[in-house]
Amino acid sequence: MKMRPEAMWEAVVRCDGRYDGLFYYAVRTTGIFCRPSCRSKTPRRENVEFFFDREEALRKGYKPCKRCRPDLHTSTYDPNREWIREVKNILAREYDKPWTLQRLSERIGISPHHLQRLFKKETGVSPKRFLERIRVQQAKRLLRSGNQNVTEICYAVGFSDPSRFYKVFREETGFSPSAFRRRKNDECSAE
Ligand SMILES: [Zn+2]
Repeated sequence: MKMRPEAMWEAVVRCDGRYDGLFYYAVRTTGIFCRPSCRSKTPRRENVEFFFDREEALRKGYKPCKRCRPDLHTSTYDPNREWIREVKNILAREYDKPWTLQRLSERIGISPHHLQRLFKKETGVSPKRFLERIRVQQAKRLLRSGNQNVTEICYAVGFSDPSRFYKVFREETGFSPSAFRRRKNDECSAE
């Protein structure tokens, strides 16, 4: 699966640097290809062709733009870092929403496949696991300070399935939620 053309076109219009390296766009009328972030004049949509691989653009006879230099590797700039930070921010703020990979990918404008693969590559965990860790953190907070029972907390932090909540909670903390609560006045209160 690839990025949707509409999402790529929007990135071109916004000169969105988060997409640099993910794709290139070429303009048929000028024979030039660019990075999404290029500040050159926005071309007409019907003249634009997208490439995921710069070699492919070169093979088709397009010349690299002198301004954004899509022919150069940018070793210092990681195009994925920006949108990965955005994913993390969204999940941290909206952890209690019923996220799916599909919903998240629509929000970011990157295909589910890309999102899953690159997020995991950069962070070492899947977006799902990242989200579940945030939910466990929130659950720990509620277990320490709140009056809600464990099932209520499970739903309050965004888990839809109590057995999944128990499993992940135990994996992340080494305790069941109720055992964690019982020891809340012990050393864990310093966390
Ligand atoms: Zn350019």
